[in-house]
Amino acid sequence: MVDLQSQYKRLKSEIDDAMANVLEQTNFINGPAVKSFQSNLEEYLNVKHVIPCGNGTDALQIALMALDLQPGDEVITSTFTFIATVEVIALLKLKPVLVDVDPDTFTLIPEEIEKSITSKTQAIIPVHLFGQGAEMNAIMPIAQKYNLSVVEDTAQAIGCDYKFNSTITKLGTIGDIGCTSFFPSKNLGCFGDGGACFTNNDALAEKMRMIVNHGSKKKYYHQIIGINSRLDTLQAAILDTKLKHLDNFNQRRQKAASWYDQELKNIEDLQIPSKSSKSDHIFHQYTLKVKDGKRDELQSYLKENNIPSMVYYPVPLHEQEAFTEYQDKDISLANSETLSSEVLSLPMHTELTEEQLKDITTTIKRFFNHE
Ligand SMILES: *Cc1c(COP(=O)(O)O)cnc(C)c1O
Repeated sequence: MVDLQSQYKRLKSEIDDAMANVLEQTNFINGPAVKSFQSNLEEYLNVKHVIPCGNGTDALQIALMALDLQPGDEVITSTFTFIATVEVIALLKLKPVLVDVDPDTFTLIPEEIEKSITSKTQAIIPVHLFGQGAEMNAIMPIAQKYNLSVVEDTAQAIGCDYKFNSTITKLGTIGDIGCTSFFPSKNLGCFGDGGACFTNNDALAEKMRMIVNHGSKKKYYHQIIGINSRLDTLQAAILDTKLKHLDNFNQRRQKAASWYDQELKNIEDLQIPSKSSKSDHIFHQYTLKVKDGKRDELQSYLKENNIPSMVYYPVPLHEQEAFTEYQDKDISLANSETLSSEVLSLPMHTELTEEQLKDITTTIKRFFNHE
């Protein structure tokens, strides 16, 4: 699905130099590369504060901790996302309220958010799934109307432009806090775990900087309960190097996606990814919808032909065993349920060659007798 090796080989000398530098300095925790990456990312995203942390799941937890929510407060988010988004809500003794997604863009339906708001609702977490923005133009006014905080899950969409009202903005910088992950396979990935929160709000930034550092501003003086969540210096040095290439990484993904689109758009039983009118798409995943119950059969056929593919996500979160206590028994979030039986993601990364793409699309066409 991803080819981290070829990307490393292509950027080897730059990355090796950055890593060697850290090894020589042995400043492994909060070394100079962390500050450097932080300020370069602030500049890239055009956001006032970046708070690096240990991983994307921590970033979401840190964001929610900074919002001062009370046990039992409700947080509305998507049922069609990676588990991390919802896990942290439950871990903080808040109540996840899962909402259905648009069947074309796979992102939250603003009307469904509004319908789910109660007197206990405190926050919304829109997920910019697969590399495309949720409908922030509709979500932000709802948040304002009901005085709710917005935490953007930008783990799959770092660097993606969104036309917010009339301004082109980076996703993750529109709500109160944006969160991202630098997991190796993400669009900006390090060589281990990493994550960050972003905000334009000085008070939230100050609080998140304390939370990641055991609730402390001054060593051994702790004002609030925090956690230990840091981006290693080594990972920061790698990310600082790779950040310079992020736009190019995203363009390479878009180029591969255009190939897939062009070759697959005329197959009746396939639906290629829909494009939002407001958001760019940076293709963290290239996700097809396979109609007529042919998804699993197509996936097996690809496997026989040595082509990897993945189902993101096979079970919507409201149907996960871990979340049964949070859901009404007969809740039906029909779009997400249907999607989980239709979606199929194809290999997507920065190093896909024309030969590989051709092999993948010809195999798919052969399956549908569409040559
Ligand atoms: C990857 C991901 C996360 C979690 O990031 P980690 O760094 O793996 O903890 C959260 N949300 C979404 C949507 C993700 O894709």
